[in-house]
Amino acid sequence: MSAFLEEKVLSVHHWTDRLFTFKTTRDTSLRFSNGHFTMIGLRVNDKPLLRAYSIVSANYEEHLEFLSIKVPDGPLTARLQHIQVGDTIIVGKKPTGTLLIDYLLPGKRLFMLATGTGLAPFMSIVHDPATYEKFEQVILVHGVRQKDELAYHDLLVEHLPSHELVGDMAQSQFRYYPTVTRETYRNMGRVTDLIESGKLFADLGMPPLDAAHDRVMICGSPGMLRDLKQMLEARSFKEGNTSKPGDFVIERAFAEQ
Ligand SMILES: Cc1cc2nc3c(=O)[nH]c(=O)nc-3n(C[C@H](O)[C@H](O)[C@H](O)COP(=O)(O)OP(=O)(O)OC[C@H]3O[C@@H](n4cnc5c(N)ncnc54)[C@H](O)[C@@H]3O)c2cc1C
Repeated sequence: MSAFLEEKVLSVHHWTDRLFTFKTTRDTSLRFSNGHFTMIGLRVNDKPLLRAYSIVSANYEEHLEFLSIKVPDGPLTARLQHIQVGDTIIVGKKPTGTLLIDYLLPGKRLFMLATGTGLAPFMSIVHDPATYEKFEQVILVHGVRQKDELAYHDLLVEHLPSHELVGDMAQSQFRYYPTVTRETYRNMGRVTDLIESGKLFADLGMPPLDAAHDRVMICGSPGMLRDLKQMLEARSFKEGNTSKPGDFVIERAFAEQ
């Protein structure tokens, strides 16, 4: 039996010349938890060409959605960026990953810290009612270089508060903090600097991080993960994983070559 499902592309949206989103059909047999990633790709010369992708859509949705970088000479994304409605995508049958609220100890505030396409797994998590049941406050921080890379900005600001399943909870519990490093914007600076300087908390009108009741999920570049892990461990946060829940969990948004 094949390890992959074949799904049809339903829509494609290009945010920038470096970033796009696409929706596909979803086989009813594909089960996953919000925050998981799976292998997806294309058949090239009859062989599967696959890469890890976080699933943007929540696990109760009928379709699948992914947020993708376009690496100009990337083996997969040089091709994937040209997909059209009706094309076939292959999707691995075994989603996995550590960015699950189950791998965090109970707490009061959940901070989700993302850079670039690291936003993807948090899109499913902010659409999950269980997130708002487990945490009193849910804060999503998304760092990008240019403001047009703030994928899903309007959905998070305008549509999430009226979402039929989580809208009421999101209205009172959810905060979104987009930040830009290379253009003038209402919030500026790197996620690490904003935490270190305390500006993030001052802007949100909240106390700084405290391992006693804060929990953190991180998804970004390998460098961002390394810096944030160090910062959290210096503040007595303990890392969780799939076998032992902790105060924070991390996942790479991509691997360095
Ligand atoms: C756990 C996990 C989850 C991932 N989820 C996603 C996702 O949801 N969306 C997504 O676009 N990618 C994601 N990636 C990266 C993805 O697997 C591929 O690397 C990406 O699709 C590019 O594939 P490629 O074959 O074109 O180039 P590759 O040969 O895979 O990558 C070439 C180089 O491009 C850079 N790069 C790759 N991906 C990114 C990225 N996302 N952002 C910035 N630079 C990058 C890196 O420097 C990399 O070495 C994830 C990776 C991991 C490990």
